Amino acid sequence: MTSAVELKGLVAVVTGGSRGIGRGIAESLADGGAIIAVVDLDSDVAAASASELPGQGHGGFACDVADADQVNSCLAEIEQQLGPVSILVNNAGITRDNLLIRMKDEEFDQVLAVNLKGTFNFTRAAARGMMKRRNGAILNIASVVGLTGNAGQVNYAASKAGVVGLTKSVAKEFASRGVRCNAIAPGFIRTQMTDELSEAQKEPLMKQIPLGTLGEVKQIADVARFLVGPAASYITGQTLAVDGGMVM
Ligand code: NDP
Repeated sequence: MTSAVELKGLVAVVTGGSRGIGRGIAESLADGGAIIAVVDLDSDVAAASASELPGQGHGGFACDVADADQVNSCLAEIEQQLGPVSILVNNAGITRDNLLIRMKDEEFDQVLAVNLKGTFNFTRAAARGMMKRRNGAILNIASVVGLTGNAGQVNYAASKAGVVGLTKSVAKEFASRGVRCNAIAPGFIRTQMTDELSEAQKEPLMKQIPLGTLGEVKQIADVARFLVGPAASYITGQTLAVDGGMVM
């Protein structure tokens, strides 16, 4: 069981935290007592999202996770304003779907730059302080597609498989310094993206989900809160599929 204050006073960075799964995770960690740095491309959007979170002291910060210089300055600004970062959730992600034969270089490069390099950039920026303080939890948002592959998503699947490998490597590098690193591989989650699917598109998807429904953002957010919190203190290097049983 999570207690209401298990993350009390801990500073948590959530990239892409202003909407969708990231927003759900930001709310859930704020409920657990954490002080949230909402990172988004747009500073007004980030600030507005931060102001709506439960509790006090949250802040919004603008940064493109794909740009290492921006990430380093952003992390420094967060630590100056909110204090040392104990929790990092690398959630920001994009899709640029296309069949491989038609995929443009930009479509491949952009997805790798945001989803994989962005995760690397923020992890590197936050890691030094976490290791020095011998305390930290990193959570990466991968995807079931990174475990199974998916036609039309070679770029996205490669980026998310990369995130799984990065997660294990970071876990091995940082374990002796008191820093854990895990990943969640969500299945099909009800967000803006899946709301746009037609019934005809949803039907074959549902057949792949043993539990028979799309997932809710809260179902990812609850697991995120568990994985970054004290109840998961003996878990590192794991990728947990939260997908209604799609991948087993
Ligand atoms: P959304 O598209 O709803 O939200 C993505 C967030 O990331 C937005 O806030 C967006 O900001 C931000 N973002 C995008 N690019 C950057 C960037 N370069 N720098 C900083 N922030 C950026 O996505 P979801 O909530 O659906 O997905 C969240 C994560 O979960 C992603 O990593 C996704 O791959 C993964 N996932 C989602 C699934 C689903 O079913 N929805 C399934 C499996 C995995 P802005 O608002 O400015 O665009």
